[in-house]
Amino acid sequence: MILLNDLKRAAHAEAQQLFEAAQRVFDSGWYVLGREVAAFEQMFADYCGVGHCIGVGNGTDALELSMRALGLGRGDGVVMAANAGMYAATAAMQAGCHPVYCDVDETTMLICPDAMARLDDPSIKAVVVTHLYGLLAAMPALLAVARRRNWSVIEDCAQAHGAQRDGRRAGAWGDLAAFSFYPTKNLGAVGDGGAVVTADAELAAAVRTLSQYGWGTKYEVLRSGGCNSRLDELQAAVLAARLPALDQANARRRAIAGRYAAAIAGTGLLMHHGAGDDHVHHLCILRCTEREAFRDFLHEQGVASDIHYPVPDHRQQVWAGQYNPVQLPVTERLAREVVTVPCHPWMTDAEVEKVATHLADWRP
Ligand SMILES: *Cc1c(COP(=O)(O)O)cnc(C)c1O
Repeated sequence: MILLNDLKRAAHAEAQQLFEAAQRVFDSGWYVLGREVAAFEQMFADYCGVGHCIGVGNGTDALELSMRALGLGRGDGVVMAANAGMYAATAAMQAGCHPVYCDVDETTMLICPDAMARLDDPSIKAVVVTHLYGLLAAMPALLAVARRRNWSVIEDCAQAHGAQRDGRRAGAWGDLAAFSFYPTKNLGAVGDGGAVVTADAELAAAVRTLSQYGWGTKYEVLRSGGCNSRLDELQAAVLAARLPALDQANARRRAIAGRYAAAIAGTGLLMHHGAGDDHVHHLCILRCTEREAFRDFLHEQGVASDIHYPVPDHRQQVWAGQYNPVQLPVTERLAREVVTVPCHPWMTDAEVEKVATHLADWRP
């Protein structure tokens, strides 16, 4: 079976660097908030082209801490797409605010600037822009809408490490940006991890305070709403070892997606190709109106597939019908049609060709 991911291959390819990183941490006797985290924060801030990076426990915490740093809380609305796996909504709930769902663009599958401009809800204070599947969103248009309404902008970069447009990386557009280093992400740790990046020194200081009990200095609690959410030394060392290879890994993902885009011509399958640096193909998403039959066909050929994501946020049971009146026609159609096929940097050429050949053979 050709799988959606094969993290053992990643670890094997980088074994030497990973063992050296781990050895350094074990030998240091210092496991939380030390030299490795400080070094990685500097590296990753430089890579993203912003002044500040704060390592945190995971991507969902990164989103929540971004919201708290902006002072968002009870009664505040946060605009977000409903096709992005519910992470931003989970963070918003934790921070005490509520999602305001916005439909996505049919082609890019990302939050739509025109739909966002039509929102009319006085509770809205901020927007989460998710660069879903690895594609950088239409930031200038989205920022223009947000600035006009005085909404803060948080980028969710958990699927878009390294994506760039006009020399500007994912994470360098909004007021704050959240990253996840969950093992399957484009830049992945060997456990949970996350980061907030920002160009704003005050917001950076607020995130750092909130991520460690609300402390200003040790044992001096300055701010309410604090928690304990830290990146650990081992994860930071692994991430620092992996970061130099990120651009190359993203290029490999892009080449694989390009091969599939060529293969599906004439099959009725759809795909947003994305041949530029602004797409890092965290997931390779096809659209198919006969999705179940297509997935059965792939399975018979030994190709794994999955659905990201099957239930749009506003239809999740957790809301107990609260969002029933919300209609998001594009989001709802996409939830019925999207299929994820294997696309990761450690696939062999033979595996890529096998998947491409089966995609080309598909007929409804
Ligand atoms: C993975 C992911 C997150 C959450 O990251 P965790 O580290 O698992 O908390 C948030 N947003 C998106 C778009 C993701 O893909």
